[in-house]
Amino acid sequence: MATQQDAVTRANFDDVILPIYAPAEFIPVKGKGSRVWDQQGKEYVDFAGGIAVTALGHCHPALVETLKTQGETLWHTSNVFTNEPALRLARKLIDATFAERVVFMNSGTEANETAFKLARFYASTRHSPYKTKIIAFHNAFHGRSLFTVSVGGQPKYSDGFGPKPADIIHVPFNDLHAVKAVMDDHTCAVVVEPIQGEGGVTAATPDFLKGLRELCDQHNALLVFDEVQCGMGRSGELFAYMHYGVTPDILTSAKALGGGFPISAMLTTHEIASVFHAGSHGSTYGGNPLACAVAGTAFDIINTPEVLSGVNEKRQLFVKHLQQIGEKFDLFSDIRGMGLLIGAELKPHYKGRARDFLYAAADAGVMVLNAGPDVMRFVPSLVIDAQDIEEGMKRFANAVAKVVNG
Ligand SMILES: *Cc1c(COP(=O)(O)O)cnc(C)c1O
Repeated sequence: MATQQDAVTRANFDDVILPIYAPAEFIPVKGKGSRVWDQQGKEYVDFAGGIAVTALGHCHPALVETLKTQGETLWHTSNVFTNEPALRLARKLIDATFAERVVFMNSGTEANETAFKLARFYASTRHSPYKTKIIAFHNAFHGRSLFTVSVGGQPKYSDGFGPKPADIIHVPFNDLHAVKAVMDDHTCAVVVEPIQGEGGVTAATPDFLKGLRELCDQHNALLVFDEVQCGMGRSGELFAYMHYGVTPDILTSAKALGGGFPISAMLTTHEIASVFHAGSHGSTYGGNPLACAVAGTAFDIINTPEVLSGVNEKRQLFVKHLQQIGEKFDLFSDIRGMGLLIGAELKPHYKGRARDFLYAAADAGVMVLNAGPDVMRFVPSLVIDAQDIEEGMKRFANAVAKVVNG
């Protein structure tokens, strides 16, 4: 029988886990701040942040303290009862944003599923049962449930799982004319990431988001911002919509929200929320005290001028190094994104090789990500210090040299 102490290695993965991932050959076992160590004791600088999740680094003392305290107090009650950490976290989110009502879930997928169900429900309740069309964008990513992969704009994630939910239409991102061409009074929602993450780290243009807001207003459709990746400080503002001055009707948050503890939230107005009633939607774990307590502490740290303005200072350091590496190795055609959601697009002669650079980087002791085959992605802790950035970039440059020189 297996015990907690049994030795396990990467070789065990294929024998016990579904083949839906291709994890790295090493197994991380410990993290502190922006450094991670594997089973062999090798150290990595972490520019990946568990895919934009560990926004305060690994094992932040304040989060550990909250987890321990709440862990000795109350873990779970279900939604048959409410709980103090959930009520406090909801109040913080409402005080800091456009929102008047919040619901907690456990993942970005579930927050988006909630948002899309609410948008359909609102339209059919307030307007007409035929107002069901959802407009979304090519290369968008909204999660992995059947509804969210269907609203997502990457067929590779949804093909083979049909029949898919109907009346979802995809048009090119940042193309307002394309939206106008399909927008009508049967549209219940436009769903967009203000900064596309998985799809290649592409920020919406201000005119695009403003135009979507106007179109939604003209046609009584809801504007849904998926800020699962770009929200909670990553853009340098608490939420990316604040940069644009365009207020959505529904916003979803996850990833950085819990700093590594699974939790997500959907934010909306009182008017929209009020179409739901007890039993319309729910989740056994959603809003549990443990997750909400940790997220509450993460929120108090992230939503401060020091952390948020620090994001843009750190971005400058990242961009400076990436430009230098890009020039030295003739590597990047574009460095983009916002705050600490940074994309570096590979030049045509390196197209399709993002994974090669990612693996070489891990070999050289730095964790980075890709966003599709042509873009390197950097989503470090929002409080990473300059020393870690310098060291990680040195290692990344070594990795690039290895790939480029064959
Ligand atoms: C990661 C992500 C999701 C899905 O979140 P999960 O927690 O993996 O379900 C949805 N939308 C965006 C923009 C994301 O980056």
